[in-house]
Amino acid sequence: MNHEKSAAMYEEATQYIPGGVNSPVRAFKSVGLTPVFVERSEGSRVYDLDGNAYLDYICSWGPLMFGHSPEWLTAGIEDLVKKGTSYGLPTAIEVEVAKLIVKAYPGLEKVRMVNSGTEATMSALRVARAYTGRNKILKFEGCYHGHSDALLVKSGSGLMTYGVPTSPGVPDEVVRDTLTSTYNDIKQLEAMFQTHGDELAAVIVETVAGNMGVISSTLEFLQTMRDLCTKYGTVLIFDEVISGFRVHYNSSPGYFGIEPDMACFGKIIGAGMPVGAYGGKEEIMALVSPVGPVYQAGTLSGNPLAMYMGKKNLERLRDYPEVYSTLEEKVGGFAKGLRTALKELELDYTVNQVGSLVTLFFAKGPIENYNDVMRADIETFNRYFASLLKQGILIPPTQYEAMFFSVAHGDEDMAYTLQACIRALKEAHGL
Ligand SMILES: *Cc1c(COP(=O)(O)O)cnc(C)c1O
Repeated sequence: MNHEKSAAMYEEATQYIPGGVNSPVRAFKSVGLTPVFVERSEGSRVYDLDGNAYLDYICSWGPLMFGHSPEWLTAGIEDLVKKGTSYGLPTAIEVEVAKLIVKAYPGLEKVRMVNSGTEATMSALRVARAYTGRNKILKFEGCYHGHSDALLVKSGSGLMTYGVPTSPGVPDEVVRDTLTSTYNDIKQLEAMFQTHGDELAAVIVETVAGNMGVISSTLEFLQTMRDLCTKYGTVLIFDEVISGFRVHYNSSPGYFGIEPDMACFGKIIGAGMPVGAYGGKEEIMALVSPVGPVYQAGTLSGNPLAMYMGKKNLERLRDYPEVYSTLEEKVGGFAKGLRTALKELELDYTVNQVGSLVTLFFAKGPIENYNDVMRADIETFNRYFASLLKQGILIPPTQYEAMFFSVAHGDEDMAYTLQACIRALKEAHGL
């Protein structure tokens, strides 16, 4: 596989962009390689500048439930561009998308569009703090909620990969009110509420963590969280930027049967366009400007092109609910195949799967929280990654992420991928 053009472009990119990339994980630095520059994509595949094809399991880190640019999704966007790209005035399609989200998400009554997941969580926290008149928030180690100051504490993939627990440039005072607790640890959660419950504005959680590799909350953990938040008057925020519309059409409330007070979205609701959203119960969202006093705004928020893509993606998921069971079955088969191979190779590693998300942890299971993840053998993962890349398979270039499967990954793709993973495991161990 030739990477000449990507290498040259990377060289040029580093002259103008920090590290040559606009989001750190894209640099492939964590796996000791340099990035592939994408030229185009189709279905389950991306093609780089040198013309190499890859089966893509990054899938833009989550938005592409149906793979790259399916015809039905992009059809009509040219006409839309001709009409106009942005107005700074309301359009009807924003209402349609908001309605889709509100109808799909149990307990959600109002939703506000923003431009990224980071904005969504940042804004939700502001509203929750205003609503409760409290400052402290609780997050869980290994969960990532975007890069706003208050949430850059013991975050997930990008930061974990580079081993920075918190970032320079974030004042101590800003994170002083951010408490952290261990994921899936009910005793610690209860103790945290016993000490700080009356001061907690919000608890924010990835119900299915994707940013330390895939780890699902246990039902008991989420139920305890729900009960404690209700008891103490704390706002429970589900960060559904990955899990929203992915684990279930009704997102986490559909999957776990538990409703938060607020929810944050991104990724899938924009189908690859820059979109985020946050919403919640009427009483809480009534605080948001211009109805209430909490300021939050966006020049490009609810952008018509982004809304158009989001609307089509959500409608498709709503109208073909079998997408979820089909993916579950297909990806479940892959996970099972991987576990069988691990057994045969006598490798004591762990495969976590939730729906269309899979992480092969290079560590003995069970993997239930950040500390478990930290036991992973990164050197071996890096060799595994490199071998997969050579075989034309792109997985996230970090142990602390999920493979994103899509509807576009066909049976042949899946079979090839499983074989490639087995070969990569052998290569990584010199077998
Ligand atoms: C990706 C992600 C975010 C941040 O979204 P951006 O659009 O990258 O700002 C927040 N929370 C979770 C759970 C995410 O996976």
